[in-house]
Amino acid sequence: MPALSSKNTFPEWIRQPWPSGEAFSEVKSLMGDLKLHTVCQSAHCPNQSECWGRRTATFMVMGNVCTRHCTYCAVNSGRPGDLDAEEPEHIAEAVKRLGLKHAVLTSVTRDDLPDGGAGHIADTIRAIKAVSPETTIEALVQDFDGKREHIATVQAAAPEIFSHNIETVEPVFARIRDRRFTYRQSLDVLRIARERSEGRFIKSAFMLGCGETPDDIDRTLRDLHAAGCDAVSIGQYLQPTPKHAPVVAYVPPETFREYEALAYEIGFGFAVAGPFVRSSYRSEALLESEFARERLASASART
Ligand code: SF4
Repeated sequence: MPALSSKNTFPEWIRQPWPSGEAFSEVKSLMGDLKLHTVCQSAHCPNQSECWGRRTATFMVMGNVCTRHCTYCAVNSGRPGDLDAEEPEHIAEAVKRLGLKHAVLTSVTRDDLPDGGAGHIADTIRAIKAVSPETTIEALVQDFDGKREHIATVQAAAPEIFSHNIETVEPVFARIRDRRFTYRQSLDVLRIARERSEGRFIKSAFMLGCGETPDDIDRTLRDLHAAGCDAVSIGQYLQPTPKHAPVVAYVPPETFREYEALAYEIGFGFAVAGPFVRSSYRSEALLESEFARERLASASART
């Protein structure tokens, strides 16, 4: 079982270049023009320089104010404004203008909306597919309070990847997540999604460095796999501001590689782990993998 590092000062492997460059400026002004939010900015993602430099971004639908309050998360909490009815079309336009072959959508949690925003997310997926039919989509969603009908609403719009992040191991869960999320409910969301996902992919992600033990990580991977996840991403938690939950340990890159190998050993079709891995980071790699090609080929042979 791989060992975790102890906490130390900001290690060398955690440093990333400051975002800049022509492609970066282009993506930034496009997001501004279309009044769009990205999780890259709202969550202070360390991969912004690389992803925007490749002209990719993860869209955060339904605004940048969340109704829940997780102690690790940099997104603002509070009372969100009304939904922007034009947002699905604006995101679709951004996908088209950036020429994205693969788009990732995520959102804040919207407990204020009767359907948690599932309909709006589904509208956004459909709007993208209408203008850019070849673009594949990952929809990274909240727990919708475990409500089957809202999960089904998103799935009916047919994103190629349905994701819901467990975020951390069960013993740490209550310390860093809003109390309305529970570890068991998140597993249920994945299980429900799996039931109606013929030929599609179910994915989750979690962070290391929040106080978990190697045994906790092993159990989380097995729980996610048993819930029906095909793919998992594992990254390092970074404290966005001094007010957020502190980092308990910085995990060295070689330990991440051992967890990636463990995930494959447990039976995941696709796994990626590393200090800078985020759930949306290089999301398209899952669909380009041998595992995905085989799954899609066998699903189409059955139809
Ligand atoms: S639900 Fe939690 S993790 Fe997600 S945006 Fe809100 S505060 Fe952040």
